[in-house]
Amino acid sequence: MTGGLTTLNPTQLGWTSELIARVKAECAQVAAANRERLTAKYGTLSDRDIVRIVDAEAAMCECAKCKGAPCERGLETGRQPAITIVDGEARIRWTQCAKERERRRRERRERLLQNAQIPARYVGKTLADYVVDENNKVAVTYAKSALKTGRGAYLFGERGTGKTFLAALIAQEYLAADKSVVFIKVPRLLDECYRAIRGQGDEQNILQEMYTADLVVLDDFGMEKATKYAGTTLCKIIDARYDGQLATLMTSNYPLEKVQEELDNASDGQSYNGSRIVDRCREMSKPILLKGKSRRH
Ligand SMILES: [Zn+2]
Repeated sequence: MTGGLTTLNPTQLGWTSELIARVKAECAQVAAANRERLTAKYGTLSDRDIVRIVDAEAAMCECAKCKGAPCERGLETGRQPAITIVDGEARIRWTQCAKERERRRRERRERLLQNAQIPARYVGKTLADYVVDENNKVAVTYAKSALKTGRGAYLFGERGTGKTFLAALIAQEYLAADKSVVFIKVPRLLDECYRAIRGQGDEQNILQEMYTADLVVLDDFGMEKATKYAGTTLCKIIDARYDGQLATLMTSNYPLEKVQEELDNASDGQSYNGSRIVDRCREMSKPILLKGKSRRH
């Protein structure tokens, strides 16, 4: 096709003079046929640029047939030319077509969902699946507004009042907005970090996600037996989230006062950052009580 002449040196390719003349004539024809239309759109253009733009238009993805790359149409699929004129010369930059953009977004979403580790039984549920009543009305209203403001919440109440479910729903709203989420049970987190320190993984890696994700859900907060290690680890996470002004959701069977007490008066007679952790929690997450009897039956 005509494009070859604009990008390659025909003599280097060993083209015969007849062939060169024919391609040149073809280019001139293409330029003449498209000059009026393209100069109306882009301003004055050289013949060479007109041919380049016509080539780009021909290679443009027909999204109606395309599923994004990879696709039957080969290299041209999933790409769209962005044509700009700089100093009278055409610049053609290839960008993703709408289908390819959508495909990548879907891929990213799947990856985010996988990384988030939301408990399987809640995956795919939405806020519409959550039964709102007098006992949780405040929590649900706050949760919805927190989604807009990026504020956190400390959802506490007895076992089976729907705290984890609500946190999982909010986490999925974040994912739907292409944001990164980490959902983790605190005892398991501490366990993983502890194992990592003992050489069976990478503690820094595990924590790094906690420091930077758009949303972190710390499920079952304050259940763990207070130890120096638990206190230090939670403190690091809470501090990083606080400094980064990132949303953190916590669920717990206990009010914050109880968590503080537990950390400050550990069974070994030590004190582990309790008031510091709890103060920060209060500043970045609104404590909300979920009442009612267990919904788990
Ligand atoms: Zn396309």
